[in-house]
Amino acid sequence: MAYAFEKLPQLVDMRGKLPKKGAYSKRVKKITDRVWHHSLTKSNLAGSTAEAFARYHVSLGWPGVGYHLVIEPKNKVKTTKGERARIVYANDISMRTYHVGDSNQFALGICVAGDFRTEKLDDATKATIDELQAALVKDGIGQRDKSHQEMPGYSWKACCVFDYQKVFKFLDGNVPSKTSPDFHVIQEGDTFWGLANNIDGITVNDLIVANPGVDPNKLKIGQKINLGKAKNAYTPKPDQPKKAQETYRYPLPSGVLREGSKGENVKKLQRALNAVYFKCGTADGIYGAKTKDALRRFQMVYLPYEVDGIYGPNTQKKLQAVLKSKGIT
Ligand SMILES: [Zn+2]
Repeated sequence: MAYAFEKLPQLVDMRGKLPKKGAYSKRVKKITDRVWHHSLTKSNLAGSTAEAFARYHVSLGWPGVGYHLVIEPKNKVKTTKGERARIVYANDISMRTYHVGDSNQFALGICVAGDFRTEKLDDATKATIDELQAALVKDGIGQRDKSHQEMPGYSWKACCVFDYQKVFKFLDGNVPSKTSPDFHVIQEGDTFWGLANNIDGITVNDLIVANPGVDPNKLKIGQKINLGKAKNAYTPKPDQPKKAQETYRYPLPSGVLREGSKGENVKKLQRALNAVYFKCGTADGIYGAKTKDALRRFQMVYLPYEVDGIYGPNTQKKLQAVLKSKGIT
């Protein structure tokens, strides 16, 4: 008999179909905790899919993707109840996959693709989260929900950041929003992530800006935290005017370069890759197998969700940052 969650119309069963290398072992304990993650990759990126996470986890030496279920906000499914974010059933729930260390044995891993430190969940994703959680409860899979950072040993982790408990009530509507008091006194187990989670309109960055003397990694019990002032305290800095590429030692070309590209721009890229020790041989201006391989190796280290061997704006930005971090300016 199929579980209720398996019958959700926005679920696709991709068990055994995602990139893998070996197999996870079966769990020997019953699932008690449904653990919610986010992927820390922007939800609209090509790499924000179960398949891309599988490729990445395999590159880490894991047998396959670490989650059982992956919600993909970028892939929408039309259902009779409205638009929903797709759910990929990635690993059988009986498998002990890797996502919460010592707790893997009794934890179900659910990952919502996205970086919810800065992004907001859209309604189709909230609806999917709500329906999936309700189905899992109905199926008796697990006894409680936890965020990754609420699991033993992970209080430092900004995962899953969004207020999952509130999202479980999304389709019920009219959930009263929690009002924010002016201050909060730190109690055992409190984190900035947790506080931001529980208060509407306040992000971790807001808390950091509103509490300049406080080290978020060393909160002390009894410490008074500014909440009232925190709302929208953080405004991202506007981008600094860009320095002209030609003033750099390794000017980087803009646009897209890929296998088969030729010319001065390819030479610039090759010189830069060589300078950061992703060797691609002589800078001959021909984007061949060697250059593609060097670029792929660079992406595997610095842009693990976007390994395609193609040079574009994201790779340019990262390469610039790496050159800078190595003092090559
Ligand atoms: Zn996580």
